[in-house]
Amino acid sequence: MIPLSLAEIAAVVGGRVEGNAAVTVTAPAVLDGRQAEPGGLFAAFAGEHVDGHDYAAQARQAGAVAVLGSRPTALPTVLVEDVRAALQALAVHVVARLRDRLTVVALTGSQGKTGTKDLLAAVLASAAPTTATLGSFNNELGVPLTMLRADPATRFLVLEMGARRVGDIAALTALVAPDIAVVLNVGQAHLGEFGSRAAIARAKGELVRGLAPGGTAVLNADDPRVAAMRAFAEGPVLTFGRARHADVRVLDPALDRLGRPSFTLRTARASARVTLPHVGAHQALNASAAAAAALAAGVPLDAAAAALATSSLSRWRMEPRDLAGGAVLLNDSYNANPDSTRAALDALAAIGARRRIAVLGEMLELGEDSEAEHRAVGEYAAARADVVAAVGEAARAIAEGAGERAVLLAGNDAAVDWLRNHLAAGDLVLVKGSRGARLDEVAAQLA
Ligand code: ATP
Ligand code: MG
Repeated sequence: MIPLSLAEIAAVVGGRVEGNAAVTVTAPAVLDGRQAEPGGLFAAFAGEHVDGHDYAAQARQAGAVAVLGSRPTALPTVLVEDVRAALQALAVHVVARLRDRLTVVALTGSQGKTGTKDLLAAVLASAAPTTATLGSFNNELGVPLTMLRADPATRFLVLEMGARRVGDIAALTALVAPDIAVVLNVGQAHLGEFGSRAAIARAKGELVRGLAPGGTAVLNADDPRVAAMRAFAEGPVLTFGRARHADVRVLDPALDRLGRPSFTLRTARASARVTLPHVGAHQALNASAAAAAALAAGVPLDAAAAALATSSLSRWRMEPRDLAGGAVLLNDSYNANPDSTRAALDALAAIGARRRIAVLGEMLELGEDSEAEHRAVGEYAAARADVVAAVGEAARAIAEGAGERAVLLAGNDAAVDWLRNHLAAGDLVLVKGSRGARLDEVAAQLA
C-alpha cells in the first residue's frame, strides 16, 4: 500500500470523510476486520446477514485506522454509495501511481491458477520484490485488494484472475491491463454457469484481449482452446507445455516415490532440470507456465529453475503428510471439479503404496450434468484407487460410479471415523472435494 490520507482517498473514490480526514492509511485493505494490519483500511460491506460496518471496532482493535463504507462507523470513515466500486477505483489509482516500475502478470485458467501463481511468485520474488494474490483472491474484490498491496518497492505484481461468467476477466483487466497474460487451460470449472466450453474459452480469452499494448501472451501449447488465443494476441506470444513446438517445453517427466515431478525445461537457448517439491504430474505443466511467464518478465530459465525447486504452494493442495500409523495423507481438500479430481487421482495412482484410498466429496457447480460427472469421476477413481470413499449424500453418484470399490460415508464426521478405523501402514489417502464440502476438516482430524 502507498500511504494515503482519508482526504486523498475520498477524492479518488468520490466519497466524503466522516471523522478526521488527515488520518493516513499505511497498510493494506481487508474485508475481515480481524485480519486488519496496523495502519490498515477496513472495507465494510453490508451483506444480507451481516453488516461489516458493525465490525469497525473489531477492525480497530486489530490495527485498522479507517473504514471505507456506506455509513458512519466506530472509525474515521470514507463514505461512498458503492463500496466495491470505491475499492476498485482506489486500487486503480494506487497501481497507476506505481505503474512505470511494475511488471503486471495476470493468470487465468480453469485449473491450476493458484498453484501456478504460487510457483510464479516464488520465481519472480527470487529476482525482485513481488506482490502476488494471497490464496485464491481472484475476483472483483480479490484483485483490487491485491493491487492495493503493491508498494513503491514492488517490481512484479502477480494477479490470479478467476471467471464465472463471460465478461468477468474483461472487468478485471479494465482495472489493470497486464503486461503478461498467462492462460493455463480451458476445462469444465463452473461449466454450469458458463453454459458451454466455448463460452469458457471466450471468457479466458478476455485476458489476452485485455493485455496492455505490446504485452506478451503466455499460452498453453497443449490445450487447443488456449493455443487458439494466439489469434487475438497483438504482441509477442510465448507457449509452454509438452508439445514439440512449445517455446518452454517440458521434456522427460518422471515422478519420485511421493509423486513429486522431475522434468527438463527447454527453450531455444537454455535447458534446466527441475525437481519440484510438490505432488502431482500436472505441476510440471504449471511450472513450465511459470517459467515462460518469468522469461517474458526478464527472469532467465536457470534462475527460474532454481526458484521452482524451493517454492511452496498455498495450503491444502496435494499436501503430503505422514500419519502416525504409517499411512501417508495427500491433502488436496482446497477445491475440486472433474478435471482437477482426475489429475489428483492420476497423481495418487502414480505413487507407490500398499493400498490407495480416494476420499472424495461433492463437486459443486456442475450444472445439469452434475450427476453424470460425479458418476464418471467415481469410475475413474475406481480404476486408480483400491477404495473410493464418497463423503456425503451429494457424493452418492461417485460411489455408484466406483461400484464394488466404493464406500458411501454419511458426512465429514463419518469419514473421519471410517478412516481412523481402516487406515493401516503403507496406505496412501487422497482427500479432495469442493470448497463447500470442507474436506479440510477431515484431513485436519487425521493424526
Ligand atoms: P480456483 O478456481 O478454486 O481458484 P485454481 O485454478 O486456482 O482454482 P488450484 O487451486 O491451483 O486451481 O488447483 C486446483 C486443483 O486443480 C488442485 O486439486 C490441483 O491439484 C489441480 N490442478 C492444478 N494444476 C492443474 C492442471 N494444470 N491441470 C489439472 N489439474 C490441475
Ligand atoms: Mg485459485
